[in-house]
Order: sequence, then C-alpha cells, then structure tokens
Amino acid sequence: MNEVEFTQKIIWSLPFPAILLRGNRLDFELVLANKAFLKITGKKDDEVIGEPLSNLIAESGKNQLSDLLNALKNVVQTGREVQVTSRKIIFPDQNSEWFSGKIFKVNLTPINDSKSSRLILLTFYEDFSRDNQESTFEQNKKLERLRDETQKIARVGSWEVDLQKNTLYWSDMNKEIHEVSPDYEPDLESAILFYKEGEDREKIREVLQNAIETGEAFDVELQIITEKGNECWVHVTGKTKMKDGTTIRIYGATQDIHKRKMTELESGTVLKNLHERVKEQECLYEISKLCNLATKADDLLARAVDIIPEGWQYPEITVASIKYGDKTWQTDGFIENDRTLHCKKNVSDKHSLSISVSYTKPKPELDIGPFLIQEKLLLESIASNLLLATERIENLKKMEELNASLQKRTKELTRSNKELEQFAFVTSHDLQEPLRMITSFLTQLEKKYGEQLDEKARRYIFYAKNGAKRMRQVILDLLEFSKMDADENKKTTIDVNKIVNEVLSQNKRMVEELNAVINVNELPVIQGFKPSIRQLFRNLIINALKYHQEGQSPNVFISSEETDKQWLFTVRDDGLGIDPAYHEKIFEIFQRLHNYEEFEGTGIGLAICKKAVQRHGGDIWIESQPGIGSTFYFSIPK
Ligand code: ADP
Repeated sequence: MNEVEFTQKIIWSLPFPAILLRGNRLDFELVLANKAFLKITGKKDDEVIGEPLSNLIAESGKNQLSDLLNALKNVVQTGREVQVTSRKIIFPDQNSEWFSGKIFKVNLTPINDSKSSRLILLTFYEDFSRDNQESTFEQNKKLERLRDETQKIARVGSWEVDLQKNTLYWSDMNKEIHEVSPDYEPDLESAILFYKEGEDREKIREVLQNAIETGEAFDVELQIITEKGNECWVHVTGKTKMKDGTTIRIYGATQDIHKRKMTELESGTVLKNLHERVKEQECLYEISKLCNLATKADDLLARAVDIIPEGWQYPEITVASIKYGDKTWQTDGFIENDRTLHCKKNVSDKHSLSISVSYTKPKPELDIGPFLIQEKLLLESIASNLLLATERIENLKKMEELNASLQKRTKELTRSNKELEQFAFVTSHDLQEPLRMITSFLTQLEKKYGEQLDEKARRYIFYAKNGAKRMRQVILDLLEFSKMDADENKKTTIDVNKIVNEVLSQNKRMVEELNAVINVNELPVIQGFKPSIRQLFRNLIINALKYHQEGQSPNVFISSEETDKQWLFTVRDDGLGIDPAYHEKIFEIFQRLHNYEEFEGTGIGLAICKKAVQRHGGDIWIESQPGIGSTFYFSIPK
C-alpha cells in the first residue's frame, strides 16, 4: 500500500467529516470524501468526486470560498509539514448546502503525493471557540438568553455573585454540572476550588478579579473537577453590574461542554496522529525505495540518514546518525543527548548497524518520554530495512567477487589444459619418429643377425620390440586424448545404433575369439560430438570384452533410458568387476588395476571416456563388484 492509499484508508473511517483535495496553485478538485462527510452533506460519492472546489460551494458561501482557497494555496506553497488550523468557513445550508449553517473549523493538512500536484486533507469540526462571539452586544444578548433559558437548555447552569453581601447563588443545573447535592450551598472560594488546580484555577481567579476591578465581562473554557472527582470541560461566561463605578454583581452561565470539547480535542488528536502516521509511512516508504535500488551500502546509508528525520514529529529539531562497521554518516549538527533514541542490529559477530536519532532541543510539547512509541517502531523498521538491504548488497558484492575469481580460475585452467594438450600432442608426435626407428632397427637386427645370436639375445630383442609396441600404443592413445577437443567443435545428429554396430564390426575378431554375446537394445538418435561418442562406446565395449572372467565367454548388455533432460546409457558386463575402492580412480589417466602381462592396455581409455562425456555436459560412473561384473553408466544431456 503506498502512502496515498494508506492515507485514504484512514481518512475514510475518520469519525468527522473529511475530504481529500488534489490541487496546484490554481484550483483544487475533490478526490476523496469520507463517510462522515457524505452523511452530513447528504451527497453521494459520484456527485462530489472529481468536482472542482468552486462547484461544491454554493453562491451564498462564495466569500468563504476565497478564504479557503487562500488557505489551500498557502499550504501548497509552504509544502509539507505545514498545518493551517482554525480556518473559519460558514457553509451555506439546505438547498445549496454542505452543512446546515454551522460554523466549522477546517484543518488543512498537506499530504505529499508522488506526483507534482499536492494532496490536501480537509477535516471539519464544529467550532466552539470564543471567537465565534461576534460582538459584546451579541454576547450580552446571548448571555441574557442563556440566563432566561437556563432551565430549558440542557447542561447550562446559571450563577450569581453578590459582591456586597458576599454570597454566591448556583442554579440546580449548575449544581448538577458540579455534581453536588441540590442543597449544596456554594461560596466564592470553594466554587473557585472546583477549577482544576494550575492554569484553569488561575484563569478563573484572573477573570473574576478583572471583572471585579474593571467590570469587564468574560468568556472562558476551563476544566473543573466535580465533587465526584470527574473532569469536566465548562464554558463559563460572566457579566457584571456596576454601581457608582464599583462592581456589585457578577452573573453568568456555566455550560457543560465536556462532550463537545472531547470530540473537538479528539478530532485534533486523530488528525495529528494521522498526520504523524502518514509521515512515518512516507519516511519508511522513501527508505525502502532506496533499499530496493541501492547497489552500494555507502551510498544507501549516506542518503538514508538524511531521510530519517522526516519521519519524526519535529523534523526541524531532529538529527540522525548511522554507524555501519567502522563508518559513520550523520546529518548536520548531530549530537547525542538525553533525548537520543538508539537502535542497533548485529550484522555479524564483529559488525553492526546502529542508528541514533536525537532531538537537538526539548520537544515543543510535553509528552511522555521524548519519543512516541510509533517512532521507536519506525526506527526498528528503518534499521531492519537497511540491514536487509546492506546484507543483500554485501552478498551481491561477495557473489561478484567469487564469480570473478571463478572466471579467472576457469581461464587459467583452460589455458593450462590447452598447454597440456599441446604438450601431449607435440610430444606424442615427436616421440613416434624415434620409436619407429627403434622398432625398425630392432627388426633389422633380428632379421640380419638373428641366426648369429643366442636364445637370450633374441629374447632381449623380443622384449625391446614389445616395449616399443606398447609405447607406440601409449603414444597413439595420448594423441587421441589430446586431440579430442581440437577435433570437435560442432554437435551433429548421431544414430547411436550405427555407432555401436561400427564398433562391434571393427572388433569382430575379438568378439568371435572370445565367443562373446553382445545384447544391444534399441538406442536413440542424439545430438553430440560423433568422434567422442564413438570413442566412448569403443573403449567401454573393448574393456567389457577384455576384462572377462577367465575361461568364460563374456556377456555384454548395451541399453539406454530417456528422461526429460537426458539420455542415460548403460554398458554392462559379467566380467572381473572392480573393487568399489577404485571406482573413481579408474577414470584418471594412466590408472590401471591390472599389469600389462595380465591385460594389455595403457590406462588412458576410461580417461578418454570421462573427457568425452564431460564435453557433452554429462557424467560417467560405475557400479561394480569383483567377481560379478561391472556396469558403466553415462549420461548425455539433451
Ligand atoms: P586400460 O584398459 O587401457 O588399462 P582403461 O582406462 O580403459 O585402461 O581402464 C583402466 C582400468 O580399469 C583397467 O586397467 C582395468 O583395470 C579397469 N577396468 C576398466 N574396464 C573394466 C571392466 N569392464 N571390468 C573390469 N575392470 C575394468
């Protein structure tokens, strides 16, 4: 909910008439009228919403309109935090009316809108203040009327002081207001003591004294404490009778205005509270907006510290400070004193975020404690918001750093891999030539001088040739291993059935010699690097045949499974099997579990398989038990 919606919600349920106007310096249009307003005016929502203010005030009220417009313009000009009160507007009645002829106090409260135009809240409540008494003449007339109607008008009591006899008369209603018994006999001093100790009692003494000395009438609103101990607001008016320049009599009326006064005060409080809450929401809204956008903790906190005072009751005397780690941001003139509110949040064991808000001077009003409970909650919310945001930013920073270092490492690894491959490629190439020479000279030696050599020497030649043959195979496999990446850079459509058939026909002799049974299920057509896939099946099938149980014909099963994201291939045999301790090791280059005398090989085949699978983004692993057989699995993502 944004601040405007929030305000509208509150306004709608205010107990007194209220409207929300939107305007610029020229005109104002009504954007919201609350329940109480619609009820008192008898209007419907759609009759008033969207209407310019000038249309809403009837002809007879037009002189008040200019007053109101001036006040509104004043609010627009002075901007936020300005509150214009006690604007007197008499609204025209019945046929052209808003309210029937009553005098209302109008409060104009600016509410910042996100747009350039401004929202102003108008609240109306009946004006009971003294300034409504237009003249002494009218006042006297009213007094007399009050006196006459004492018994008729509810809650108005009359009284009279005879200064010559020094007596005080109270009417029954006056006694009722003071909550004393009907036979109570008042005297001037005890009557004064009914007024609340302090300002109220001093005020009544002062006006009475003045009336005695100068004969001036008075009209005050004060609080009394009744005989039963209840607080009651009374409107006291007094008039004097003079004789030969001396006041001999003071008489007047006491009206019980407690209910009205309470509503009036309450309206003021509600409005003030509303205003405060709106301000707090605004502040929090601004802070969370910053939090969402900020990419640097320093910037965020530097800007947030300036926003914080705006959420407090008296922004002009509010200063703030934010401490984060070992850095501090402060508004101008920040001080810590006995009017400082703190909030601290721990970021880590060492790190913390603390916010302090102080009033540089005592508050203009006396409240309990220097801060409102809502302000304490506001500070909590601000701190939580900032904490979350700074954590988010820090995490982002860490992620970026991690990413950068990962990228750097990947680059380094790629480079060293490339270098290694280059090395393997070059050496295997270069080694082949001398190797060929060794083999060919050994063959020459055997051919030409074989007859002259003894059995031992001929065996040495055989071992040497065998060694050279093995070395040649190692070189060829290494070459294969190093060439893999360079050879393939484009995926193609591969019918895996065809690949497997090719491999099997290339190794037909081995299959026949071993009397092997090969079962191949229907295999899929996939996208991949063809040479790699061929190598994979070739190495796995040859191993499955090679590492068979002694004296047994090998059985090999080749199958595949499809899932949403990948193909899973299986090459299973019933051969020697592998101890689980070596299940990972065998995929490393040059790792063999059997020596050359037992089984020919270079220890490169499975390393090639692993590389081939990884090039496709897949995985390869084995399930195997010695003496039972092995199952090689590999996945190829789709
Ligand atoms: P090579 O077969 O050339 O030795 P490989 O990398 O293909 O190299 O295999 C590494 C080792 O893993 C082999 O020496 C062998 O001990 C073991 N191995 C591979 N495949 C199987 C299998 N199907 N059954 C039993 N052991 C195997």
